[in-house]
Amino acid sequence: MLSQRVRTMEESATLAMNKLRLDLRAKGRKVFNFSVGEPDFDTPPFIRRAAYEALESGWTRYTAVEGVPELRDAVASHAGGLRGERIARDEVVITCGAKHACANVLLAIVDPGDEVLLPAPYWVSYPEMIRLADGIAVPVLGPRENGYRVTPELLLPKVTPRTVGLIVNSPGNPTGCVYNPREIAALVAFAKAHDLWILSDEIYDRFVFAGEFASPYRGEGRARTFLVGGLSKTCAMTGWRIGWAIGERETIAAIGRLQGHTTSNIAAVSQAAALAALAGMDDPALRSMVEEFARRRARVIALLSELKDVYFTPPEGAFYVFLDIGAHLQRRRANPLEFCIRLLEETGVALVPGDAFGDPRGVRLSYARPLDELEQGIHALASYLSK
Ligand code: PMP
Ligand code: GLU
Repeated sequence: MLSQRVRTMEESATLAMNKLRLDLRAKGRKVFNFSVGEPDFDTPPFIRRAAYEALESGWTRYTAVEGVPELRDAVASHAGGLRGERIARDEVVITCGAKHACANVLLAIVDPGDEVLLPAPYWVSYPEMIRLADGIAVPVLGPRENGYRVTPELLLPKVTPRTVGLIVNSPGNPTGCVYNPREIAALVAFAKAHDLWILSDEIYDRFVFAGEFASPYRGEGRARTFLVGGLSKTCAMTGWRIGWAIGERETIAAIGRLQGHTTSNIAAVSQAAALAALAGMDDPALRSMVEEFARRRARVIALLSELKDVYFTPPEGAFYVFLDIGAHLQRRRANPLEFCIRLLEETGVALVPGDAFGDPRGVRLSYARPLDELEQGIHALASYLSK
């Protein structure tokens, strides 16, 4: 019955671990939710208020499939401001989250058999999205000593006549790595030399705690780059499903047509909320959220540094730490999934197994949780590991 397309598709590991931890919590167990990457804050009141008002004033109908014009303009000026680029309305399409934006860009530009270079550890959904577009994901593991960042030298041996594109995700999920301007320039030069497009997923662009943010959607990299962003993380709006793709007009128009036959526009009320969010990016509620993440990052790095035989590169951005627990896996003769399930059952600590991110030596910890929960949970992890 099932199509070839979905038969081999893996469940999203991040969402699967989240389900397991919800099941455990429903049984009354204390759970430390370090699995799914979702801010623990509520959407700020000024955004919620704008949504109530929008509902009362008629934002309840279909809108233009690509998003209402004023939202496309607001995204263009928001994304362009941070990157020093002027972006036009018809270079922007509004999507149901950044996930939908990545999937739609790939559907619009990948042909059957096209190979896409995928730096690993990678976010769980990229390989499946590439496959869904009939492409072939070609993972390239970055070395931990380099913060898991890949370089042109590492990518080069994987280039074939069928290579068409490169995924860049900085700040990155699951490693928190941030590519600096020099490293981004090197990737852009590499893409130019091999005539590749770049899909640059910059959903964590406001979460940079060390190093310097850079985007390939700039200067000479702009023409070959599709920039993906959204409000799920920045504004604690995961449930509203607001994302966007920005890039060359013809592809953006094609994504509009694709959405016209699949999802249509994102919810009208979410678009009204997004307008308020983008107008209020300097709101203290949003600034204090980022400051709280910076505090958590510092504390989590200090606590994790004390774990024996656990290695990691301090994350510079996003809100994840990718832990190399190879020595523990070997000692326990366990793969990362078995490790994560036993850890969850015995201690209530929920992590995500690294094989889902293309690195079977690791596990991902999301620190989008309150400080006291992080402290208690990491202590529980430490005592489990020392057994
Ligand atoms: N890209 C990355 C790297 C992510 O971690 C996520 C996590 N949700 C997404 C895209 C999708 O986010 P959303 O669809 O909620 O905007
Ligand atoms: N992106 C988040 C994560 O990696 C949310 C879950 C998902 O959409 O995969 O945990």
